[in-house]
Amino acid sequence: MRSHALALLLAAAANAAGSGGTATAHADRVLLNARIWTGDDARPSAEALAIAGDRILALGSTDEIRALAGPDTAVLDLKGRRVVPGFQDSHVHFPGPSVNAVRLDGLESLEAIQARLREFARSHPTLPWITGGGWGYSAFPNQTVDRKYIDAVIKDRPVYIEERDGHMGLANSRALETAGVTRTTPDPPNGTIMRGASGEPTGEMKEAAQGLILRHVPPPTSQEVYESLLQHMDEAAADGLTAVQNASWSPDDQPVFERALAAGALKVRFRLAPMILPGEGGYPKGHALMAPLSEKDLDDYKALRDRYRGPLLKFGSIKGVLDGTVDARTAAMFEPYVGGGTGLPFWDQEDLDRTVALYDREGFQVLLHAIGDKAIHMALDAFEHAAKTNGSRGRRHRVEHVEVPLLSDLPRFRQLGVIASTQALFASPDATVLENFAVLLGPERASHADSFRLFDDAGAVQAFGSDWAVFDFAPLKGIYAAVTRMTPEGTPKGGWYPAGRIGVEAALRHYTRDGAYASFDEEVRGTLAPGKLADLVVLSRDILSVPPSEIPATKVLLTVMGGRDTFRDADLP
Ligand SMILES: [Zn+2]
Repeated sequence: MRSHALALLLAAAANAAGSGGTATAHADRVLLNARIWTGDDARPSAEALAIAGDRILALGSTDEIRALAGPDTAVLDLKGRRVVPGFQDSHVHFPGPSVNAVRLDGLESLEAIQARLREFARSHPTLPWITGGGWGYSAFPNQTVDRKYIDAVIKDRPVYIEERDGHMGLANSRALETAGVTRTTPDPPNGTIMRGASGEPTGEMKEAAQGLILRHVPPPTSQEVYESLLQHMDEAAADGLTAVQNASWSPDDQPVFERALAAGALKVRFRLAPMILPGEGGYPKGHALMAPLSEKDLDDYKALRDRYRGPLLKFGSIKGVLDGTVDARTAAMFEPYVGGGTGLPFWDQEDLDRTVALYDREGFQVLLHAIGDKAIHMALDAFEHAAKTNGSRGRRHRVEHVEVPLLSDLPRFRQLGVIASTQALFASPDATVLENFAVLLGPERASHADSFRLFDDAGAVQAFGSDWAVFDFAPLKGIYAAVTRMTPEGTPKGGWYPAGRIGVEAALRHYTRDGAYASFDEEVRGTLAPGKLADLVVLSRDILSVPPSEIPATKVLLTVMGGRDTFRDADLP
């Protein structure tokens, strides 16, 4: 391999030459006979691509690019395969579930959840607590959870399993006992201990109430966290991801990211957002209640931003949480849910305005989790207030999830330059969406929930993400959901509120260049062009020409980040 410095020179030479075909430098690798979707308006497609070091040297026809190959150049003939820029996931939660956590994702019945718990307890006899999560309400009788369902399989050890959105969890009786949560325990600020008819806690802990349990769970060792990070990066690379934006960085995680960076083990690029919190009480994250904002935090975040500027680790954004979720009826709505309640915003507007304006003034990008129409409206008001207070500047604040916006708020995204950070798989109409989410909203609000078309039509920049580990990363699954609004099994026929569908190319843009824009990285990645980082994916089928029903069967064959393979499927030609 050539030295990094030389590679940069070569990329610069290719840039100076204007078009790749005229450059004379040799490439480290060339990809020939491909169908390349670049995402770059200047050259939307190409047949071949050359890489030098970690950068793209040139794009062109197979003959032009073959001419850049020297005796040491690795040549890959892709035989007509589709190539796209490396996928960017704009909203994830790394390092993710512990390697020692039970995973309940995708289990559709109580029997399946109980069987998994029983088996996990049997195979992990020395764990003092059994934790994990990923369950959905639809797996439980009458969508109602209760500690008795866990007690039936694990009584001797405390168990705490989080719902798939992470905004609530279910404890067994032993966990409540260990944590000292009884009928007389008051609800904490921003949280609810659910109680049965008799007044006894049912084990369901919503929002900040989770902290009452989580603070008793022994934290994972740093080796465990490191192993989890490595394992989940492998999974991300296998799904074609080359960059992710982390929506819940905590200082506890930093040594693990630094260790991976020093070891050269990072397989995806990270942008890391520390969390800001409203007033008292804080918000549960992992094993501790995070402390509210202090001036020292701000200084720390600025130091991190100066120190880590990419391309592998980068800071510069801040994340706040304004509300909960529709499924838990904690997303803040203007009008009540079917069945009552309007959720609760975790901030009051004045507090939020002040905090957002502070970070805005300091040059941070602010990400606000807002799902209900009221919370989204508050977020937009706070961004508007910051612009009025601090003057005009190229700000790119973001609303995360933005599931049920007021239709009248849609134009404000473009007007204020606010990015809609949406999650493609949220539009996959599984049982929880149809039987809980849509029912709670009622037909009028459900009809435009998670409608990616509305943001595109309003001219907003829309960056796709997964909210992993809440949902699967898999951008191909996300693209399928955004394009069809059907489950992978093809239900409901014609799609769930099909007016919200978008095209494959739009979905690709949201997963590539819009994601790079959302992290201020569009100059270096998100599209395939000479001089940009060589981050790309080779797919088994051409998702731009096959019927959408074939997208779920499409595989990632090769993921390249910075010119080197981070995943390679055995089926690659
Ligand atoms: Zn999230």
